[in-house]
Amino acid sequence: MTKKKIVTLPGDGIGTEIMDSALNILAEASKKFNFAYEVESFPFGGAGIDLEGEPLSEKTLTACQQADAILLGAIGGPKWEQAEKTPEQGLLQLRKALGLFANVRPIRVPEAIVHLSPLKEEIVKGSDFVVVRELTGGIYFGTPRKLEDDFALDTCPYSGEEIRRIVKKAFEMARNRKKKVTSVDKSNVLATSKLWRKITEEVAKDYPDVTLEHQLVDSAAMKIITQPAYYDVIVTENLFGDILSDEASVITGSLGMLPSASHSENGPSLYEPIHGSAPDIAGKNIANPMSMILSVTMMLRESFDQHEMAEYLEKICDEVMIAGILTGDLGGKATTSDFEEAVIQKIKG
Ligand code: ATP
Ligand code: MG
Repeated sequence: MTKKKIVTLPGDGIGTEIMDSALNILAEASKKFNFAYEVESFPFGGAGIDLEGEPLSEKTLTACQQADAILLGAIGGPKWEQAEKTPEQGLLQLRKALGLFANVRPIRVPEAIVHLSPLKEEIVKGSDFVVVRELTGGIYFGTPRKLEDDFALDTCPYSGEEIRRIVKKAFEMARNRKKKVTSVDKSNVLATSKLWRKITEEVAKDYPDVTLEHQLVDSAAMKIITQPAYYDVIVTENLFGDILSDEASVITGSLGMLPSASHSENGPSLYEPIHGSAPDIAGKNIANPMSMILSVTMMLRESFDQHEMAEYLEKICDEVMIAGILTGDLGGKATTSDFEEAVIQKIKG
């Protein structure tokens, strides 16, 4: 097997700390599963500005384009807020250059932290779903766009092809999960949603092993918090996905637990925690590395088909949390390295 090429962009703040932990854990687990890979790290975001004068240098971008997968820590911080070039510009450039059109956010509530959810335990128990959001189309980018004194206009365009590729992604993911796709739209009102529904029905024909259902976005917004365990894969357009994925992200109870993936048509995917660089706790060795570890397990599944290894790692981390080794955001006292060390010891057996 040829070695997989992973490019890491640790970035700023806690990004670098949780990246270190996640990579050390990956190194240990990969021995057990004979997973061959190489890692090369590049400055990005604020670190890019400091070292290379650019948040995303030519060299870093080229490395990303040639990678099999990209791991990103987090970027930004007060240091660069007033700067002419900002870390966030680098992220926008990178997303665009890689053509990332599908954003995936898994929501899983491990048993050890069920009590941290703002929802009742009996509601949240067993929740394990993903929100697949279309990222490059719809009302965020549509033209014409007008803002006048007493009149404004936004436009929400979607082509059949844009819908087809994101819906396909959702069905592919469902195949490796609980085999249920919930497509969310507003087809009782919107033309784009009517097309969305039609295309989704067409795509579903190629996946007879996966169940498809449609939900209106208003009712989905309710059901996500009243019955989160009902869902498997939710797929939706850009604006609805923005709102629903943020709604869903509170279910787990800590930002420090949440990874994400962004996919393109054929190029490398990008995996990153959904939280920022958390300047308030940076450099203190207290960040929760789970968001980064789960970004790694997403990468193992979605870029490298290493489902067994991903499942194993998640199980080990759950066991460590159940044993009470929890970082501050989860109400514990463990440091980032305490958690990392406990996971590595468990892998070593
Ligand atoms: P950004 O604008 O970059 O998204 P933000 O102000 O939204 O930044 P985040 O960095 O996303 O802030 O984090 C919000 C707060 O959540 C942080 O201040 C931090 O205390 C906490 N937090 C985020 N990630 C983690 C983590 N991995 N472990 C522990 N706490 C975290
Ligand atoms: Mg934020």
